[in-house]
Amino acid sequence: MKFFKLILPKKKSKLSNLLFRNYILSYLLTTFILTITLIILIIFGASMYLDDYYIIDNYLSENIPAFLKNDYSNLHTIPIEEAGGYVEIVNNSGDIVYSKGKTPNNRTSYSLTDFNAVLSGNYYDDPSSQFSYKTFYNGTDNLLLVIAIPKSHYTGLMNSYKLKPSYFIVISAILSFFIFLISFIIYSKSSSKAFIKPLRALMEGVKKISTGDYSTRIYLKSNNEFGQLSDSFNNMAKKIQEEQKLKENSENIRKKLILDISHDLKNPLANILGYSEYILNNPNISQDEKDKYLVIINNNSIRANSLIQDLFNFSKLQSEDFKLNFKQTDICEFLREVIASYISEIEEKNFNYVFDIPDKSFYVNIDENHLIRAIGNLISNSLKYNSEGTVLIIKGFSLDKKFIIKIKDNGIGIPKELKENIFNPFVKVDVSRNSKNGGSGIGLSITKDIIEKHNGSISLECGLNEGAEFSIYLPLT
Ligand code: ADP
Repeated sequence: MKFFKLILPKKKSKLSNLLFRNYILSYLLTTFILTITLIILIIFGASMYLDDYYIIDNYLSENIPAFLKNDYSNLHTIPIEEAGGYVEIVNNSGDIVYSKGKTPNNRTSYSLTDFNAVLSGNYYDDPSSQFSYKTFYNGTDNLLLVIAIPKSHYTGLMNSYKLKPSYFIVISAILSFFIFLISFIIYSKSSSKAFIKPLRALMEGVKKISTGDYSTRIYLKSNNEFGQLSDSFNNMAKKIQEEQKLKENSENIRKKLILDISHDLKNPLANILGYSEYILNNPNISQDEKDKYLVIINNNSIRANSLIQDLFNFSKLQSEDFKLNFKQTDICEFLREVIASYISEIEEKNFNYVFDIPDKSFYVNIDENHLIRAIGNLISNSLKYNSEGTVLIIKGFSLDKKFIIKIKDNGIGIPKELKENIFNPFVKVDVSRNSKNGGSGIGLSITKDIIEKHNGSISLECGLNEGAEFSIYLPLT
């Protein structure tokens, strides 16, 4: 699961999509509420209407049992009479067998026209009639129950119950207003939440950064523009934090360099000063004694000078406008020349040696003067720190578009834990080793710097009393 999360690109959504989604949601919500309200209003209004129909239907259903039993005394006719209507029961000959209320013309029987009027003129069908009718036929006794309500009263009755259109419009308008207000509030609240929360988090982050807390990070779940902004913010904070660390590191290195330089220069300069003052203050000392002190002064001057030379070369390499002069060169030929210049010193020190450089030409872009210095440092270190009989091996070969130079010896070696650190300036294996040989601890850092400026790299395989093997990798042209 985590694997998929890692490789799948984060799906980006836009803020405008979120606003659009919120808008649609609140629109749907509003429409839904509005529809429900309208339905309620319509049902409410219509039920008022329907009531009028139900008045007659109710009377009819109330009276049917009594009618079917021919129990006319139990016919409940008062509401019909009060409404100005009447109730009649007519047999199949048209005679009115029962009548209650104000019947038209005090008739005693129904003509065909009367039958037609009541049977076809239920409610409103007969415009000429003053009444609306409802009838019920008792098939067993062949009797027809007729209920009539005056149309005028009926309409009035309806109007008095009906929700007036103007009220309906006003109520709907007020309701709509409140519903729109509520949905607007819901919309603006839900939309502003999408802005306010990330904005607050961003502001909080910016505040922390401005107070120097570069470790601050913003965690937003959104994938929209705010999510992208917080990613950029976090990248920026990370970069500033890294720069800050680098700055602190280089500041520490600078302080350590100054301390190391002054410490290393202190001894030779103190010796020079002490012995020269002694000679000056004691003019009567013997020539032999004077010569002895002059040799000490000279040795210390050489040491101070070489230290200053190393420092000068090192800081020259570090300067921003330092440039190498590259030239496409046959690296094998170049290596043979460098080795040849050290042969007499190697033999003088009674070292055994193996050189394995291919006869074939391999071309690398190099600055000869500087690369001589880089490789020379490694060879002279081997000669400087190891005793007679040490075997020195120098090999060259090409591999994977690179030319590899190995400079290896089987001498006293370097402790494994210093494998990486030994390339930093002023790092020495132990002070006694260096005071004996006068090293400053800058040589390997100069070598590494030069190799890296050739787009190459250098590594070390070593161990105490296990010899040292330096490998230089240079890109072939
Ligand atoms: P320096 O300029 O003083 O020689 P380097 O930076 O060249 O210093 O080397 C750092 C330390 O690594 C030296 O103090 C030395 O002890 C150790 N060193 C370098 N090369 C070898 C080697 N071939 N054999 C043993 N020790 C070595």
